[in-house]
Amino acid sequence: MQPESTDPIERLVHHLSRLPGIGTKSATRLAYHILRTDDLATELAAALVSATAQVGRCALCGNISASDPCAVCANPKRDAATVCVIERTQDLQAIERSGGFSGVFHVLGGVLSPLDGVGPEELRISELLARIETGVIEVIVATNPTVEGDATALYLAHLLKPLGVRVSRIARGISVGAELEFTDSSTLSRALEDRREL
Ligand code: ZN
Repeated sequence: MQPESTDPIERLVHHLSRLPGIGTKSATRLAYHILRTDDLATELAAALVSATAQVGRCALCGNISASDPCAVCANPKRDAATVCVIERTQDLQAIERSGGFSGVFHVLGGVLSPLDGVGPEELRISELLARIETGVIEVIVATNPTVEGDATALYLAHLLKPLGVRVSRIARGISVGAELEFTDSSTLSRALEDRREL
């Protein structure tokens, strides 16, 4: 399908198929569902516009949020001296669901991956270093248990330990190559509890 299609249905299908996990077939099904359901298109379009306009990143942790600082950073009951470093906002939500963590987060925005052109400058590492000076005692690196996730954890340990910060890595309860986002809450909670120092 041509992205430039002037046919409104084809255009809708094209843009829906840009969503993760949505192929042309699902996009077509969604497009017709949207078109046949009263008010859905109008309400969906309005929700998309207002969410895009109102939601941004928390300047402290990088979490995607409608408030800045986000609800986690703004909560005085959270332990700001313990920072859990994660790849993406989805991982923050997964850890929050597990209920096993009372510190704060730092969203890196990915992992180091030289082959994909992702170096330290592409991640929110300088922001993390700036936060260390605000009294952080421990950094728990909870990047996914992949080659890149492990390499990023070692890189961060190398940067942070000379600053006098304890750096730990979540335990191996999570199977290698798995993603935090899809790990069940009790496993995730255990992995955080059984973290080991780097
Ligand atoms: Zn935040």
